[in-house]
Amino acid sequence: MKKIFRYLLIFICIFFVIPAICTKSKSAIEVNQNNQYYENVEQNKAINDQKNETSKYNYTRFGKINLFHNKTGEIEEIPMDEYLYGTVSAEMPVNYEEEAIKAQAIVSRTYTIYQISKNKDKHGKADICDDFNCCQAWISRDERMKRWDENKREENWNKIVNAVNSTAGKVITYNGEVINAFFHSNSGGKTELVSNVWGGRNYPYIQSVETSGENEYDQFNSEVVISKNELIEKIKEKYPDVLIDFNVKDCIKILDYTESGRVKNIKFGNINLAGTEVRKILGLKSTNFNFKIEGENIIFSVIGYGHGVGMSQTGANSMAKEGYLCEEIIKHFYANVQIESW
Ligand SMILES: [Zn+2]
Repeated sequence: MKKIFRYLLIFICIFFVIPAICTKSKSAIEVNQNNQYYENVEQNKAINDQKNETSKYNYTRFGKINLFHNKTGEIEEIPMDEYLYGTVSAEMPVNYEEEAIKAQAIVSRTYTIYQISKNKDKHGKADICDDFNCCQAWISRDERMKRWDENKREENWNKIVNAVNSTAGKVITYNGEVINAFFHSNSGGKTELVSNVWGGRNYPYIQSVETSGENEYDQFNSEVVISKNELIEKIKEKYPDVLIDFNVKDCIKILDYTESGRVKNIKFGNINLAGTEVRKILGLKSTNFNFKIEGENIIFSVIGYGHGVGMSQTGANSMAKEGYLCEEIIKHFYANVQIESW
């Protein structure tokens, strides 16, 4: 009887207890595997969260901006896209090609986000101002409409709105960071490096690039005629010790040029000035200039309009006329960049 009981016990062990233990162990492994899986998911989620936190550039974060109005001194809170309608319509002629205006919309959006994220202290509580010499030009819808022919108002405004909306959230990045998207009116055929305009370091994504067709615009050629006395007076306002003896040969002489062919330094009698400084003093449209002395006058012949850094707006329009798309235009003026949707 004892024997039978022993065999029964062995039988139960073989067919019930051991399989039960094994099954339990298997489940435990599965649980562990599942835990590992969920741990990995959590870890990845954490990494992604961290990435989102460090990359900071969630477009929805920039839904509203604080715009400083230079004329009134007021700060206006305004939705980003609405701000861009005003900026794009103030910065680029509405009769430019659609792809050029779309490029301007992406550039202006990028420039704005750069100001907000990297240049916070520039305007105190405001993010950006409406002066084109300082940040970007901006004009209200009402003001803009008044300046257009009545029968063109709706069509023009819709063109601007469409350029901003159809590129919504698109920004230019370099190595995942938003770029400082400089732009100007007319490069005179070749764009300029940052260091030649503002000194300091260059940006890897701002190179000197050529564009054809910029000579077809009014901004390409300009002239400033100034008398010898006027010239001395103007320079004296900032450099009181200047002495120019017009009887001396080469009393005014261009000393060197930048990589893009703009005047780097120029001698006026006993002082040397940077081309950028002369541009400011004499109100020249760019630093790409030459001069000749005729009788009592000095004639400065200037090519291009603006500092020459980044996207040339007339260059963008020329490219658009040739069939280039907005992203291609942007990648021409900014080297090795990406256009991302935020
Ligand atoms: Zn400003």
